[in-house]
Amino acid sequence: MYRECTRVLSSALLALTSWLQAEALAQSVVEAERLLTLTTGNLPLVLVAPHGGREAIPGIGIRQGNGVPQFKTGRDHNTAELAEAIALKLGEMSGAKPFLVIARFDRKYIDANRPSIEAYEALEAQPYYAAFHSAVDEACKQIRQVWGRGLLLDIHGQAAEANVIFRGTRHGKSVADLVRRFGRQALTGPHSILGQLALRGYKILPDASVNDRESRYSGGHTAQTYGSHGATGIDAIQLEFGTRLRARDNVDRTAVDVAAAIRVFAQEYLPIKLEGMEPSIVTQP
Ligand SMILES: [Zn+2]
Repeated sequence: MYRECTRVLSSALLALTSWLQAEALAQSVVEAERLLTLTTGNLPLVLVAPHGGREAIPGIGIRQGNGVPQFKTGRDHNTAELAEAIALKLGEMSGAKPFLVIARFDRKYIDANRPSIEAYEALEAQPYYAAFHSAVDEACKQIRQVWGRGLLLDIHGQAAEANVIFRGTRHGKSVADLVRRFGRQALTGPHSILGQLALRGYKILPDASVNDRESRYSGGHTAQTYGSHGATGIDAIQLEFGTRLRARDNVDRTAVDVAAAIRVFAQEYLPIKLEGMEPSIVTQP
């Protein structure tokens, strides 16, 4: 009898412990997602912005970066706002909604564009980092499931050249599928996103004549992890917007131009036709 009671009690205790653990895990996921902006899209495009967040992560200090190469904690100002504005303008133009994964936590606490070993220091930051990457991973999976392939744009900011957008594709690797299907035209040609932005007056580096040699901002952990050189990836391009292009007064204009460029690209190269009016294709600078 005593033995039977003990057995029942210990299995009840075990069930309670695993329920509590599951609850705690669910709670930490909910808390971690509070510092992300997540949207499920209706077209095979995901916009990612890891460095525009302004929020502290409760209970942890800022990163010190001991031993981390090219350690940075600086915010890419207004890139969260830019990613949201691009999604908004795309919606207004065509009713299409991209997937969005935007970090609201500050880069001082987590650098989501790094492998986990370099991304954070306090253990408490782990669920936030994991939530960010599982959201990107999930968006890519859904895109592959529904459309077979798609595009990820990783939105960043750089302060080296105020009027320039740097492209980063891990020297061509992260757009391997796009280029294999359609040639380099799909990356830098007149109906590509970068080509359309160039035709709309933006300076793009490296320019279209330069093939795979990207000397600066050649793409980070996200392009490396989710790019189409990997079996489960989609095409991924890192875009580094100069300071002036994402200044508060210019975010909307930049967003309109990027959204218009995405529409032209989508019509030509994505496995979906956007609703609404035909995209306005700029053919002359
Ligand atoms: Zn960045």
